Amino acid sequence: MSAKTETSRVIEASPSWLIERLLAWYDAHGRDLPWRARAGEAPSAYRVLLSEFMLQQTTVATVKSRYAAFLARFPTLEALAAADESEVLHAWQGLGYYRRARALHACARAIVEQHGARVPSDEGPLRALPGIGPYTASAIRAIAHGAPSVPVDGNVMRVMARLHGVEKPLPGAAPELEILAAQLPCPERPGHVAQALMDLGATVCRPRRPACLVCPWRPACRAHRAGTAERLPRQGPERERPLRRGLAFLLRRPDGAILFRRRPPGLLGGMHELPSSPWREETLNLERALAHAPCATGWRLHPETVRHGFTHFVLELALAEGRADGAALAPDAVWCPSGELDRLALPTLMKKLLRLGGVAPPARR
Ligand code: SF4
Repeated sequence: MSAKTETSRVIEASPSWLIERLLAWYDAHGRDLPWRARAGEAPSAYRVLLSEFMLQQTTVATVKSRYAAFLARFPTLEALAAADESEVLHAWQGLGYYRRARALHACARAIVEQHGARVPSDEGPLRALPGIGPYTASAIRAIAHGAPSVPVDGNVMRVMARLHGVEKPLPGAAPELEILAAQLPCPERPGHVAQALMDLGATVCRPRRPACLVCPWRPACRAHRAGTAERLPRQGPERERPLRRGLAFLLRRPDGAILFRRRPPGLLGGMHELPSSPWREETLNLERALAHAPCATGWRLHPETVRHGFTHFVLELALAEGRADGAALAPDAVWCPSGELDRLALPTLMKKLLRLGGVAPPARR
């Protein structure tokens, strides 16, 4: 162990000391996740790719509950590439941020067409694929291909900020934290170093109440010594998301079927939705919103609304309920019996609206 004690009583640890302690901790306490290779198994680049797409904006607990079903439906990269987009969107239900499902599908097709169904190992070709940014490329390189790369996400930045006592707030501190993480050597086990950092950030160096007493890096951690762990990394002022409003229409036929339409490309593109007025950053004008109703009928306004957060805005939708009276509808109208909603690719927002209208949305499968 090459570590020496500073006058401040913080151990100044060498990168190799940090890695040695981290890997010993990982071998004993690393998480058993379904997409990880077990001891003695070679990692599957497809499984790593799949899990990294799923984990981009979804928690590990949710991905764990959806991963096996998705993999069973698309067991290989080729099977995923050959599927229809609607099938992929349907299987993605419950994971949210459907843009990732479309990017994953496009990525699988590009790998099959341009790389003979082999996930590239170099950063350039990986970054050229749809949906793959610096973090995902780095994770795939390290975990699937054993390349000396340290993927840095919010968890790893938090650990680095605390370990090194970085007081500068995010996002300005991000480049410095990335450099600190990149200084960790990945000698023989780069994939395990990447996964160990992920696990340390998720299970020990948690945002609140970090478990410093069981942390392998405690002797070297400046924030622990200074008692500042819980308030690092410091955050810059939060960006406020604008509020958009609209009116959704829940139209039922006498036989109980409900009217849907498919969303155009873009946000939630290709998914099914209840028709609605445009979503605008202004007070809802009912008269103008009702002009977007799928047909003229006696619309009844529900007293409550639904709120849903997207990355760049918050949406508040009111709900109008009505019964179809045989009036002509737009050609893109899709009628679905309320007992067969699992046939549709329904985003969480639509499930919230259905619940508000007293319709049980399909359970996750
Ligand atoms: Fe995080 Fe505490 Fe470990 Fe420091 S000692 S890295 S604050 S868990």
